[in-house]
Amino acid sequence: MYGFGVIKAFSITLKNFLIPSRMFTHHQYPDRKLGPLDLAKQADKNILLYALKNPKNIIKSLLGLVVQSDKFPQHARFRGQEFAWYEQRCTGCASCAKYCPLGIIEIVTERSGDYLQDGEKYKIDVFDIDIGRCMFCGLCVEACPYDALHMGSGFEEGVYDRQNLIVDVEKLKKSTKHPSAWFRPQLNEESYNPQGNDPLEWSQVGRHVRPSSKDQQGKWADR
Ligand code: SF4
Ligand code: SF4
Repeated sequence: MYGFGVIKAFSITLKNFLIPSRMFTHHQYPDRKLGPLDLAKQADKNILLYALKNPKNIIKSLLGLVVQSDKFPQHARFRGQEFAWYEQRCTGCASCAKYCPLGIIEIVTERSGDYLQDGEKYKIDVFDIDIGRCMFCGLCVEACPYDALHMGSGFEEGVYDRQNLIVDVEKLKKSTKHPSAWFRPQLNEESYNPQGNDPLEWSQVGRHVRPSSKDQQGKWADR
């Protein structure tokens, strides 16, 4: 019916004015405060019966001391904002930067003198990702041959200044690593849940076990 939505909206506002539990309860992300009615509903009991049996809980809820997480469950392959980058796996090849359709990854490298047998690993001076322009397509993650770059699992990187939306190499190094399982079948196979499980080390996120330098030296010497 035309106008029904407006009536419904006003009735919700009216309820918030009149129902005591709503007056004493305000919703606050990521934890939600529960009022007496919420508690009774969760216990599947009439509010009066619940109040008689659990007076302490009722008083606590009226004081705003009963809280529960208000976060929705999130899929393991959710493509989050903060990116999980593993310095130990990254060779500085810049494939991720070349594949980014928006050109928002900046990588500056120099010669490191390490792993000369393998063709030398670059030293990474700059690795900036401008997430203010990122569309979270994940092509950079697909392009990384070494499983060094993964989508993140968070979505709460809001800041007041756009400049602070640039994730630089120091931030990437220091960040807690909860990589998304998106485009990472090895994480899917292990049923890794970025929201519930511990952070992962560089040695836990690859598709292949990295050969030791000694193995590699032997391989090259045998040729
Ligand atoms: S997710 Fe897409 S837009 Fe964002 S940095 Fe990677 S390739 Fe670029
Ligand atoms: S993150 Fe991957 S693709 Fe990007 S520079 Fe490092 S190794 Fe290369």
